[in-house]
Amino acid sequence: MPLADVQTFHAAADEMEKTPLAALKAADAIPGISSGGKKALSQLRSDVQAVGFKTGPGQMLFDVLFERGLVRDYLTGETAADQQRRLAIHQLLQFAAENDAPGEKDPKRQFLNWIRRLAIFGDDRSLRELPTAVDGIDAVRLMTVHMSKGLEFDVVHLPGLGNGMFPFTGGGSVCPAPDGMLGTPVKESKVEEEECLFFVALSRARDHLSLSRANQYSGRSSPNPSPALEVIASHLPRAPNSTPTWTIGLPAPAQDRMRPDLKVDGREHDGHDIETYDDCPRRYVYEVVLGLSRSRQDNGFIHFHRTVYRVLRWLAQQTGPADAAQIKAEFDARWVETGPVGNDLEEIYRTSGEQMLDRERHRSRVGMRIAEAVSIKVDGHLVRLEIDEIEQTGRNLIVRRLRTGRPPSTPDQRLLHALMLEAAEQTLGGKGAFRIRYLSTDDERPVKLDGVMADRMERTSAALAGLAQGIYPAKPSDDCPRCPHYFICSAVPD
Ligand code: SF4
Repeated sequence: MPLADVQTFHAAADEMEKTPLAALKAADAIPGISSGGKKALSQLRSDVQAVGFKTGPGQMLFDVLFERGLVRDYLTGETAADQQRRLAIHQLLQFAAENDAPGEKDPKRQFLNWIRRLAIFGDDRSLRELPTAVDGIDAVRLMTVHMSKGLEFDVVHLPGLGNGMFPFTGGGSVCPAPDGMLGTPVKESKVEEEECLFFVALSRARDHLSLSRANQYSGRSSPNPSPALEVIASHLPRAPNSTPTWTIGLPAPAQDRMRPDLKVDGREHDGHDIETYDDCPRRYVYEVVLGLSRSRQDNGFIHFHRTVYRVLRWLAQQTGPADAAQIKAEFDARWVETGPVGNDLEEIYRTSGEQMLDRERHRSRVGMRIAEAVSIKVDGHLVRLEIDEIEQTGRNLIVRRLRTGRPPSTPDQRLLHALMLEAAEQTLGGKGAFRIRYLSTDDERPVKLDGVMADRMERTSAALAGLAQGIYPAKPSDDCPRCPHYFICSAVPD
């Protein structure tokens, strides 16, 4: 389906205030979609026609994969790869079916959240357990040494035997022994544990054991062998520090394909969008180009934050002082519309919101302009910023950002704040100051221009240049499981 049609479809769904699934039913009536796009949407509608809000993930997958026949091409063949593919499908279906329990909430969303949690905490052991039926597959099993305990294999390959890699010298500190118990010096106990692991790994092999180390790991040199190899050096056919027998050039980093059709140039950018591009250019495509939702619907804090903001804006528009009862009535009404209703922490959010608004009620608003849009110039590009508060008294001018979270222990020097600082300097009188106000603690922190903020402005320039060329590489990080696009993130679709 052409990207332009995806954009049109999402914009229309937003306008109709429908979820994409609900908007599919009315897709034929959406103007501006090409005939190819209409065909693709019609096929999608037909594939998911049996899926409703309460449909469980297992039921949905069985229906889409088997009833609709989408899995047919993946079920044939007798090679190890074919068998592994079938195994992967089997495991996914089994895992999904286990999560088909009916409830008040959308079981599909709960299932995806569960997978996110498993990925965030690295707790996917249950998914790696293989049914005995697949024991005979002639394939390589990849596992940690911990996972291999109690198992044996004809052939074992143990990679990563460089100094610092195994035993691994990084990682967090070990929990100290409680008072009154004999403790082991942390370093000693860690080395001992890693030594034990090494011998666990060696003893998994029945016939063949292959040990290997590299001269470089992730671009980092590690010319020395692991000390663990020294212990067994006399039993090895070659000295642990002998030169490599297998050399291969590192693959050139994948070049991200430019997308001239997705260039964003010559228009006013939004400051949040520039920050999104800086965090992950691929995420920019999903959110800004394709118009997919920026936040996960299950994020209670975002709902709480939005609702408090809406009431603050209402408060700022009042000509006279608002009393506590009026604020409460407004807060209650907005809470029903956009608050984290039904969230496990709803009561905590609500109490916190009430306290913040009560404090704001007593604040003077003399000389204050609220929710004002300001444009600044960066490298010839226009960047638009929504400023929460601009306070002007005489020649003094303060640009202020309101935050509903708690103040961080270190200054919040994100790229958006560098832009706001630039706005205070550039557009709003040259000598303006920028401050962040934390509503939960009534605390205000100034943000100054320093090396870090100068770096943020350089990154802004790089982002603007990347957008002008249409370059959107994925920037994976440990935070990916928290990204709304985690399950669809791959190459930019054509
Ligand atoms: S999942 Fe990660 S790489 Fe993909 S868009 Fe999100 S943040 Fe970027």
